[in-house]
Amino acid sequence: MSSVWVSVPLATRERIKRSMTHPDLKPDCVRCAALCCVALHFDRSDSFGFDKLAGEPCRNLMPGGHCRIYERRLSEGFRGCVGYDCLGAGQHVTQLLFGGRTWQKEPELLAPMMQAFATARALREHLVLVRQALRHRLPPSLAGRGEDLADALEVAVDGNAPAGRLLSDVAAFLRELRPVIREAT
Ligand code: SF4
Repeated sequence: MSSVWVSVPLATRERIKRSMTHPDLKPDCVRCAALCCVALHFDRSDSFGFDKLAGEPCRNLMPGGHCRIYERRLSEGFRGCVGYDCLGAGQHVTQLLFGGRTWQKEPELLAPMMQAFATARALREHLVLVRQALRHRLPPSLAGRGEDLADALEVAVDGNAPAGRLLSDVAAFLRELRPVIREAT
């Protein structure tokens, strides 16, 4: 473990230190308009107690944005909710992009908030994956590409810019990494 870390270039170690705080990847449900409870779909399964369509408020969601079974989600069959992590997308969309407005008070905001939430979550997820990849010892060309992708993702996260091409580039980068990381571990 420590030998892998020592081999990580200084620039990458600096990036990792920076990444502890930027962007904020910790969910803050208090500052979110319960976006995961409305935007995501789920199917009745071991993880969810009933079917829910994307855009349909969960029937456990109370006016005001609290979950009626929050403390009992595991025992009520909603471990999928416990395991879900928006990576900070929820409060970013609610507070920074929509200024604290909510789809509950202004239903016409539901579609744009859902769209923004999907973008914000996807960008964050890809940024986390690239950062994790950069913790490995990589050939210089791949490490350079990873650094560039991380830079581009950080900018895109801040602006919440739809970035289909960027996400495709990240997916291609991660595919190329698989054999390299397998070999190194
Ligand atoms: S069960 Fe609770 S946490 Fe899960 S989607 Fe419904 S309201 Fe949200």
